[in-house]
Amino acid sequence: RVPVPALLQRPADAIVRPQAATHPKIPLPADLFAPERRNSRGVEFGARAALDQLLTDVKAETADLKPIADATPDQANAAVTAARAGFAAWSRTPAGTRAAALEQAAHLLESRGAHFIALLQAEGGKTLDDSLSELREAVDFCRYYAAQGRRLFGGETAMPGPTGESNALALRGRGVFVAISPWNFPLAIFLGQVTAALMAGNSVVAKPAEQTPRIAREAVVLLHEAGIPASALHLVTGDGSIGAVLTAHRNIAGVVFTGSTEVARAINRTLAAKDGPIVPLIAETGGINAMIADATALPEQVADDVVTSAFRSAGQRCSALRLLFVQEDVADRMIEMIAGAARELKIGDPSDVATHVGPVIDMEAKQRLDAHIARMTAEAKLHFAGTAPEGCFVAPHIFELKDAGQLTEEVFGPILHVVRYRAENLERVLTAIERTGYGLTLGIHSRIDDTVEAIIDRVQVGNIYVNRNMIGAVVGVQPFGGNGLSGTGPKAGGPHYLSRFATEQTVTINT
Ligand code: NAP
Repeated sequence: RVPVPALLQRPADAIVRPQAATHPKIPLPADLFAPERRNSRGVEFGARAALDQLLTDVKAETADLKPIADATPDQANAAVTAARAGFAAWSRTPAGTRAAALEQAAHLLESRGAHFIALLQAEGGKTLDDSLSELREAVDFCRYYAAQGRRLFGGETAMPGPTGESNALALRGRGVFVAISPWNFPLAIFLGQVTAALMAGNSVVAKPAEQTPRIAREAVVLLHEAGIPASALHLVTGDGSIGAVLTAHRNIAGVVFTGSTEVARAINRTLAAKDGPIVPLIAETGGINAMIADATALPEQVADDVVTSAFRSAGQRCSALRLLFVQEDVADRMIEMIAGAARELKIGDPSDVATHVGPVIDMEAKQRLDAHIARMTAEAKLHFAGTAPEGCFVAPHIFELKDAGQLTEEVFGPILHVVRYRAENLERVLTAIERTGYGLTLGIHSRIDDTVEAIIDRVQVGNIYVNRNMIGAVVGVQPFGGNGLSGTGPKAGGPHYLSRFATEQTVTINT
């Protein structure tokens, strides 16, 4: 079985289809996104030759990747100073011009699609499916924020007032925004943060994860080429200590951060301890995401959706399923089907078209996950362990826990934890979900409308998916972001996101 790529699961009208490729080095096979492929099972039917050629080109393209130097603290501070100097001109640039630059960036991304796929595979270890859907998401962010930006920043909102007085409300950029991003969506999240901040009229200093600086650099070069002035957008590479230097700078006006809850807290403390203006933090963090499957759910669909949600992208998605609650009456059968579906996954080289699960990001991540597997092997019941090649790979695992409380932190890899529950104890399941303190994604598999509604009413979770998988939120279709330990709440890819990057100004004129 080949899980259907997220790209192919999108509603047709949500897909922003790339134009034919124009990149001189690696032309994207013109029919790669052809509509007839949407109904196929991934690449198995028809697309093989085009993809094989693409992957050969991709390997050639990334054969001589060279390391990128880290910035020094002085360079990081200088970037903030330069961004502050660039703020005035950029914030005065008409919203339509800012939006046009983002639209041009979307066009350039599409026309160099194969190049970015190459980078996502080589630097991010992404499979072809994941690279394609990430590229698509990055393009969608640029276009969506351009459209939202025209709407929100294109003019003032007239407010009521007495005769002889005019009142108007306008959104404006705040100043220098620091954008700090993770390695797991090194193109889409990086660009999503940066383009949102820029569209809202801020200048930006971007700090990507230390594991994926090259993708970030190429994205910044592309944005400059698309029309974002170099003075308005600066890239600072390096590890977390460079991020800490940026967030401690006196002259920043906002921070947008995606990553772990722990680092979000550290940034919050840094911002709170600083003298000077109060600086807002937009934080999008992790989760111990659950799915509830009751006895009315369709077992085949549950198995497919669980495998996609827990193991796709090697479980390295903030939205991924970690904790599956299965109703006791159907638990044995469902666990068996899920394990059967997991057994079919091919783990290995991400540049192989047939691979479903690629590597984890680095050896540190592998060691953390291996340690968790060792602990679970001692404390829980092992239902399934896949086999992974030597190297930076972790095979999918399925453990059954006696109690959801045994999982105390986000485990960022392809490890699924299952807990059985009795129908009369659904309330206990919801309490267990609440007790995690996170609130990012939740899956519900049930055909009883009242149950589904009661769960939705009860939980405080940002993104809820009913009778489908729970990953792959689509920009402008499923605005994404969580609550509690999962973040400060703004929804990336949603209609209110850009306003979180702006200040509001009311002007009252006595005419
Ligand atoms: P991370 O360790 O928190 O790092 C995220 C970014 O913060 C990196 O660029 C990191 O730099 C930087 N950083 C580390 N310490 C810092 C500090 N003291 N001050 C400022 N910046 C600092 O997260 P990750 O391992 O890259 O990504 C995985 C996490 O991201 C998971 O928890 C996942 O759930 C979460 N995530 C959430 C979402 C969402 O939308 N909610 C989406 C994707 C991922 P270095 O890495 O270079 O040290």
